[in-house]
Amino acid sequence: MTLLETQGLSKIYSSKGNVVCTALHDIDLRVESGEFVGVMGPSGSGKTTLLNLLAAIDRPTAGYIEINGIDPSKLSNKNLAFFRRRELGFIFQDFNLLDSLSIKENIILPLVLEGVAPKLIEHRLYMLAERLEIAKLLNKRTYEVSGGQKQQAAIARAFINEPSLMLADELTGNLDSKSAKDVMDSLKELNEHLKATVLMVTHDPFSASYCQRIVFIKDGRIFSEIRRGSNRQTFFQQILDALSVLGGNFNDVPFARA
Ligand code: ADP
Ligand code: MG
Repeated sequence: MTLLETQGLSKIYSSKGNVVCTALHDIDLRVESGEFVGVMGPSGSGKTTLLNLLAAIDRPTAGYIEINGIDPSKLSNKNLAFFRRRELGFIFQDFNLLDSLSIKENIILPLVLEGVAPKLIEHRLYMLAERLEIAKLLNKRTYEVSGGQKQQAAIARAFINEPSLMLADELTGNLDSKSAKDVMDSLKELNEHLKATVLMVTHDPFSASYCQRIVFIKDGRIFSEIRRGSNRQTFFQQILDALSVLGGNFNDVPFARA
């Protein structure tokens, strides 16, 4: 089943009627339910713009988006907020956890805000904590855990309401290589065992090698696409090759490692 589809998606930033920047041009993208897809491209290629359009944080200049049968640009503000909570799970580079809450409170917050019954919340939490092997972190405060553990908590928070699509922007950008591996293993676990559909923007070839498919964008256009075979090591090398063909600069976020 197709979960996400864009057709002719374009975004032009303009100011006082003058075009400032064509950030995305004619993007046709399709993601099947259960897929784990990466988006890579040099700085300024339009990755964040794409995520902002998909999350309906920003509106396209042309083209259309459908996520789980819904076109977010047609929704009222109230329904848009509902759509984001229901259908999307966000994972950010800087975790976005609330330091005044425990790890557990952070993870369950989306369900608490929805008014979900406490029994069901506990059930979802423990199922997810077990799957991600983070049960021992639940009662800690955010400052008592590592960056990688914070990101694992953020992944759990993004998935606790079982959204149809998880969107991640440079989720390993602030992590050392060991933490990046733990975080990617967690995301893979959700994808493989709980059928999470993931669309992940990354600069990092190691993190990208966890994806099943990678779409490369350059200057706001789809440039190429590669699919992973059975071996992650081979895919990692293919990603490096594709990036060298792509060119451009990747300086805004450091590579986690090679
Ligand atoms: P990436 O995330 O791949 O680095 P972005 O989506 O942030 O790229 O940006 C794509 C292009 O759009 C860049 O040239 C950037 O300068 C431009 N851009 C992004 N946001 C704005 C904005 N609000 N106004 C004008 N130009 C923008
Ligand atoms: Mg960006």
